[in-house]
Amino acid sequence: MSFGNFKIPQPINEPVLNYIEGSSEKQAVKEALKQAKSQEIDVPMYIGSEKIRTGKKVKMSPPHDHQHVLGHFHEGDASHVHDAIEAALAAKESWAKLSWEHRAAIFLKAADLIAGPYRAKINAATMLGQSKNIYQAEIDAACEYIDFLKFNATYMEEIYSQQPKSSAGVWNRMEYRPLEGFVFAVTPFNFTSIAGNLCTAPAMMGNTILWKPAYAQIYSAQVIMEVFQAAGLPDGVINMIYVDGPVAGEVVFNHPEFAGLHFTGSTQVFKNLWKTIGQNIDIYNSYPRIVGETGGKDFIMVHASADVQEVSTAIVRGAFEYQGQKCSAASRVYIPDNLWREVQEHLINTLKGIKMGSPENFMHFINAVIDKKSFEKITQYIDRVKASSDAEIIAGGNYDGAKGYFIEPTVILSKNPHYETMCEEIFGPVVSVYVYPQDEFEATLTLVDQSSAYALTGAIFSKDRYAIERSSDILQYAAGNFYINDKPTGAVVGQQPFGGGRGSGTNDKAGAQMNLLRWVSARTIKETFMGVTDYNYPFLDAE
Ligand code: NAD
Repeated sequence: MSFGNFKIPQPINEPVLNYIEGSSEKQAVKEALKQAKSQEIDVPMYIGSEKIRTGKKVKMSPPHDHQHVLGHFHEGDASHVHDAIEAALAAKESWAKLSWEHRAAIFLKAADLIAGPYRAKINAATMLGQSKNIYQAEIDAACEYIDFLKFNATYMEEIYSQQPKSSAGVWNRMEYRPLEGFVFAVTPFNFTSIAGNLCTAPAMMGNTILWKPAYAQIYSAQVIMEVFQAAGLPDGVINMIYVDGPVAGEVVFNHPEFAGLHFTGSTQVFKNLWKTIGQNIDIYNSYPRIVGETGGKDFIMVHASADVQEVSTAIVRGAFEYQGQKCSAASRVYIPDNLWREVQEHLINTLKGIKMGSPENFMHFINAVIDKKSFEKITQYIDRVKASSDAEIIAGGNYDGAKGYFIEPTVILSKNPHYETMCEEIFGPVVSVYVYPQDEFEATLTLVDQSSAYALTGAIFSKDRYAIERSSDILQYAAGNFYINDKPTGAVVGQQPFGGGRGSGTNDKAGAQMNLLRWVSARTIKETFMGVTDYNYPFLDAE
């Protein structure tokens, strides 16, 4: 019950800490890393009020040191999926009826806990479990997640305040009801913040959730659950289970109260889930909401007028930060022949100075890729280039999986704009360059638009305003996040709402009001103050 129209405190983006030598934040995260490395944790599933330990333990190791054991999680089976759905449905009524300001307060408190006492812990968990350097962990697990929680609370308030007009004697109202049933959040390995956002965005709007994180992210996901508990999230609102994807899907997608899928991950998995939901449509009580942000083949398009140093820096940061394992990572670059020599020289010189190794050493810009499967997939692409006459490696190309899954930042020069590395998502520290004749700018824009099934992020570098406008026109549907003279990564909540179209997703923009709208089903209420008592209309009185 509310007795006021409350205002969420105005959110501001969480400042990114620098972690310079001697800073208190660096000391705190070093302590947290030491502590985490000195113990093996035992991570249960969280179902309702219970912490479930099945005894089927799966090892968690840092990708950069795969023989080290950080701990184990307890894997579940179909019965745990059923239990988690039951727990979510049991928690639903009380959670949905809790006044919105109390729901908001829990998540705002979670944001403050991450900004303060849990910051070092969640960053350290992300550094070790997902092999991110401190800056990549800070902008993800701390800052972006805090922003998601705070901005979404504001968007919730804005949604609730959107009300229809009323005519005389009538009061029209809109209620933004949570969906009927439960929501399934299926999250990827690469961003702690995305994992945390996919379960909290629908929960904030009054839904209860079954959350299935990627196995490679469970080490930081358990810190998120700890934060939820410390923030006072009631049992059963978010239930976290570790079950093989298809096993979970089999139970969830056959349940009549399945109300929505909040997914981020690869395109093929999302398409398969959508197909299954489509095939099962007669089972459900309502049409499930399907929100999915998926893969990318993100581009940097360079005009003949661009600044060489800016382009080269955008390639290094855009393609190689977090080992290229960002959905937004630049992975294909189109450079005019008048600039290529200079860009190449700058790029190769920069890469010579970049250090690779464990994120526990703060001097390492590049860390390991997530696991053996990824390592093999990426290195196969590299090996095929070595044997190809269409493309050559001009920087990097070496890899070593003995201690950790390390792959050098690799630049491929492709003669063929349709070569596989120019078109397919590799999801590793690999970028492909195609050099085009500078007078074929427009034709190359069409090539950029049409050479990949994805449309997530992309950038144009140019000092020529006509070229910028032309590229913005021709590439209108080639990217959901389009950058002018900036790298195509690093979207900030509240500033660049994130998501793509075509094969890259439903483009419901994470960290934006339009995403939260997918988790409600509006009820329109018309109340008439003076009831009508005569059926007659004046036009009926005479012919
Ligand atoms: P993935 O598709 O392998 O896994 C994503 C999630 O789906 C995991 O939790 C996984 O266990 C689950 N899953 C897999 N098969 C399943 C099935 N049959 N049924 C139910 N669940 C299933 O993706 P990933 O390797 O974790 O993440 C990398 C991918 O995510 C890349 O393609 C990347 O582009 C994409 N991504 C996109 C965005 C975006 O905003 N567009 C953001 C981050 C990552």
